[in-house]
Order: sequence, then structure tokens, then C-alpha cells
Amino acid sequence: MSSNVTLEKIVSLCKRRGFVYQSAEIYSGLNGVYDFGPLGSQLKQNIKNAWIQDLNRGKEDIVFLDGSILGAQQVWQASGHADNFSDPLVDCQNCKKRFRSDDINLEKPCPSCGIKKWTDVRQFKLMFETQLGAVSNESNIAYLRPETAQSIFINFKNVLSSTKVKIPFGIAQIGKAFRNEITPKQFLFRMREFEQMEMEFFCKGEDANNFFDIWVERRLNFYKNIGLNMQNIKTRHHAQDELAHYSKACIDVEYNFPFGFKELEGIAYRTNFDLSQHAKFSGKDLSVFDDEKKESFVPHVVECSVGVDRLFLTLLFDAYTEDEVEGEIRTSLRLSPKIAPVTAAILPLSKNLSENSIKIYDHLKKNGFRVQFDESGSIGKRYRRQDEIGTPVCITYDFESIEDNKVTLRDRDSLKQERISIDQIEYYLNNILNK
Ligand code: ATP
Repeated sequence: MSSNVTLEKIVSLCKRRGFVYQSAEIYSGLNGVYDFGPLGSQLKQNIKNAWIQDLNRGKEDIVFLDGSILGAQQVWQASGHADNFSDPLVDCQNCKKRFRSDDINLEKPCPSCGIKKWTDVRQFKLMFETQLGAVSNESNIAYLRPETAQSIFINFKNVLSSTKVKIPFGIAQIGKAFRNEITPKQFLFRMREFEQMEMEFFCKGEDANNFFDIWVERRLNFYKNIGLNMQNIKTRHHAQDELAHYSKACIDVEYNFPFGFKELEGIAYRTNFDLSQHAKFSGKDLSVFDDEKKESFVPHVVECSVGVDRLFLTLLFDAYTEDEVEGEIRTSLRLSPKIAPVTAAILPLSKNLSENSIKIYDHLKKNGFRVQFDESGSIGKRYRRQDEIGTPVCITYDFESIEDNKVTLRDRDSLKQERISIDQIEYYLNNILNK
């Protein structure tokens, strides 16, 4: 990460290059809601693929789930969200601005208008409520899920009885979550509609501490493997009085954002609270049988939960680099090839060479590589464009290529150039993708 990276630079790059747009921008925007453009949706997909691959690589048994976004009222009553999922809200009576009271100092005047005239602090519910069907009454209320985890808990028995998994095992899910945040801020850091990647690992109570340690290590390794600079990552143990009453341990994986160290992922040992609550509220038995002890028990859970969008933002901050090349400031995203939305750009040196070079592009595309073809503007300008979107390698086809069937590869980070034969390109790209 460049020391002079700012949130403004990231927001502007995201819009300029088609990573992220404010949702409903032509209607002056929807606060805390974003749309992902061509490069952004690819980057998101790569993040999700990397997460899934990482879970599948380990020796633990993990299965996947895709739960519904609409959640029955009883689910959120059992989980505790209906009563407790709220943030403290305060209004300035003078300018009518709203704040999370834990974000500001109520002893001081309003940061917006400079007058000190606060309302009382009250709890603001973060769940979006909606009505199912045409008749509106209390029993038709449903909620947009504020986290994906509960779909996992309520399907625990379904998964167990319909697959071959046995305790210990994990259920993982990627999906949308919604929170009516009082003050969405810092771009993708705090949104009202976002995506989560959550994994609930079910085990015996006596094994939970051990699995907690295993998952902390596994998750840190994941961040290293997708190329984050680990010097910008630290773990923060929650103090005893910070833990939820049912939780025995919790670690936040924090990233050093320009606005300070903040949570990227939460890893928590949640005891068997969630399954016990759903068993109590639904009246269904969610225990499993321990063949060794010959008794039933409600499994304990270690949870790993990270926001796709928050990780997206983290990767952009971490990869953003400004350096001086030939007297000009060059901006590049030093994303790992696994994560970069485009792996290689095919650039004919002159438009006369387009016909030959587009064949290389077509071939690579057909074989599943993420490639771009760019023939507009000077070669220097095209390099800059690719650097800015994080493309690890540019492949230039020049007049000599017609004779020797070779192309020039230019590395985004070292700027080193090497000439390789056209039939070696696939091998080269596979190599950098699997590094
Ligand atoms: P925070 O303290 O930042 O509000 P949290 O402790 O409420 O986060 P969790 O409920 O543990 O967050 O959610 C798990 C993960 O989901 C977070 O670590 C974060 O990566 C992501 N996440 C949570 N809320 C948001 C949001 N409003 N926008 C984007 N990502 C979010």
C-alpha cells in the first residue's frame, strides 16, 4: 500500500475504471448501497472463488449452502436479533443530523452544525422489515437477513440428514446481508446492502478451543495467500466484557486502513448457543448422537465471518501503489494474479497488427483466461490503463512477432520485459495464477 493512498483516490479509481458505482447515481444515489461494474464484479467473483478454494483445500470437511435472503420472524426472535440487533442513535435537535452515539462525544457540540442540543439516546433497529403477501398483519412480517449465519443454523439438521458429513464439519455460505446502518460510511466499509462469506464449524464442546485456534491460523493464511501485506494485519482478542454472553472467545482480524485498524473478519467460538436457541424456539431436536459417549449433545460452533465488499476495499487499499516511471507518477494495483480482474492484456503495437494479435486474445479467452484486448491509444497509455486496474502482465504483439512468433511480456510490478514464444503464453499465465 502506498503511504499516500486515500479513500478519495480509491473511490475515484473505482468509478473511473468500472469497479464500483454509487447505486442509482443518475437519481442522486442511494446512501450505503453500491453497484459493481464490469471489473468490480469480476474482482468480487475472484475473491469469492479464492475463499471457496481455500476452504476446500483444508483437511476439514466443509459443505456449502445458499440460504434465502428473506428470513421468518421466528428465526430472528430465536437468534436474538429481533430484540437486540440495534445501534444507539442520537439526533441533533438543531440540524436534525443523526449519529450513532458511540461514534461521537455527546459532551461536545454537534460535529455538523456546532450547536449542542442532543436528543436522548435510543436504540435503533438495524434489520429491514417487510411484509409477505397481500394481507398486512403481524404474522406476515419477515426480515431481510442481517447476516447469513442463521440460514446455516436452521438448516443444520437438513444438511446432516441429506449428506454424508459427520461432526466435526463446517457449513459455508456466501450471500447478501442487509443492515439499516445509521451512518453508512467509508465507501464499501459500512454499507446497507453487502455480501458476507461465513463458515460455521460444528464440533464437540471439548474440541472447540482447538478448532478455534486452527481456524484463526487458517484464516490468516488465507489473507497471506491472496497477497495481503501481513504487516497491515493484526488480530485483536475481545476482552471478557466485550464478548456476547454466549461467546467464549472472539478474535477480530483487523486491517490497517487509512482510517485506522478496523475489523475485516470476526472469528468467534459461539458455544452451542445458536443451535440451542433454534431447538428451543422451534421445538425440534437439533442434537446429534455421540457414538463414543453414547449420548446426545448439541454441537458447538466456531464461526468465521468476513464481508466480501470489506475485503474488496481492503485489497484495493493494500494493492494501491504510486511510483515514478520516466518522470511521471504511475498508479498501479499490485493485486495478486489470482485476484486481479484481468490476468493479461493483449496489446498490438499498431492497429495493422490487430488481426494477428486478436487471435491470441480469442484463444486465451476460449481457454478460460481473464484477458482484455486493447488497441486504442499509445502503448504507454495502454500500459498505464492496465496498471491502474491491476493487470499483472501485458502481452505486446509487434512487427517482429509476425516473423518469430514471439511476443513481449511486461510485468506490472518490476516493469521487466521478456520475449517468449506465443505457444508458451498459456503456460506462463497458468504459472503466475497458481503461484
Ligand atoms: P462492525 O463492528 O464493523 O459493525 P460487526 O462486528 O457488526 O462489524 P459482524 O456482524 O461480525 O460485524 O459481521 C461480520 C463481517 O461482515 C464483518 O467483519 C465485516 O467484514 C462484514 N460487515 C458487517 N457489517 C458490514 C457492513 N455494514 N458493510 C460491509 N460489511 C460489513
